[in-house]
Amino acid sequence: MKAIVKYAAEPGHMEIREVPEPTAGPGQIKIKVVAAGICGSDLHIYNSDIAIPVRPPVTVGHEFSGVITEIGEGVEGFEVGQRVVSETAYSYCGTCEACREGWYNLCPERKTLGYWYNGIFTNYTVVPAGRVHLIPEGVSDIAAAMTEPLACVCHAVFDLTKISPTDIVLVSGPGPIGLMTMQVVKAHGATVIVSGTNVDTERLALAKELGADYTCNIQEESLEELVATLTKGKGVDVALECSGSHFGTNSALKLLKRRGYFTQIGMGKPEVPFYIEALNYKEPHVSGSLGSRKANWIQALTLLSQGKVKVEPLADVRMPMEEWETAFEKFRNKEGGKFILYPFKED
Ligand SMILES: [Zn+2]
Ligand SMILES: [Zn+2]
Repeated sequence: MKAIVKYAAEPGHMEIREVPEPTAGPGQIKIKVVAAGICGSDLHIYNSDIAIPVRPPVTVGHEFSGVITEIGEGVEGFEVGQRVVSETAYSYCGTCEACREGWYNLCPERKTLGYWYNGIFTNYTVVPAGRVHLIPEGVSDIAAAMTEPLACVCHAVFDLTKISPTDIVLVSGPGPIGLMTMQVVKAHGATVIVSGTNVDTERLALAKELGADYTCNIQEESLEELVATLTKGKGVDVALECSGSHFGTNSALKLLKRRGYFTQIGMGKPEVPFYIEALNYKEPHVSGSLGSRKANWIQALTLLSQGKVKVEPLADVRMPMEEWETAFEKFRNKEGGKFILYPFKED
């Protein structure tokens, strides 16, 4: 079968290769890929500038939905033909402090699907049965392919941030992650402002359609004034940074109220100028956010099946895997929001 393979540690070095079709070993499940999402981190794997361990040659890709085609020895509770998604934390040590406390997303030994283990930009993949979740009825293949990023958002919002229905929440950056974050916050009943720049005009309009209370193009209107009016000068209760730009981070910290919650979800450059004064003067609750845990997958699939989060409208570019180079190029140039790849034509 064909696969998009990162074949050497140096930047680039990615191509379509012929790889053996895997079989499900004991405790494993084989899944036929139906829809695959391109993640920002796939570009980082291409560029070889990601801190998560990659083991070339490896089939790239980790966001997907599929159908079970084979069940390994000893696996119970699944059947061939079921529609499923799989967590990306393929393996972790289980004994370190992070693992023992249930925060295996932070395990230093965590090895990831599409980084260390062969991923899903291909036709078939094999994963441990313990990572597999059934797709609820009524959730489409395309929507289910975005369970992973939505689970990461659920981790950031449910596990790391405190939101009340009366809160005014700022989401900076209206990319796919920002638009998912906005909807997860709306599911908490809070009021949401989504901010972006001139390049985000369409995405800000989509934010409005998907339920944002306020949107703000910061190059055209004053976010400070909007926040001051809505919060009577107090500042937002919660800020969720989804742009990955340090301008977004610093502006959010400036607009945050005293003792407010700030969570960094977007991933940007490793070291940037940081408005540290906010920490000294506001005593904010500041957190980062990395990946997701099992509970977050259940939350994500529940939100999708309840219709409280809509992700299909985010998948605005859909292409076959044969055209991955064009897709990566367009993605790099931000010519679209969420990119979905369909598997290779099987001969
Ligand atoms: Zn991802
Ligand atoms: Zn561990």
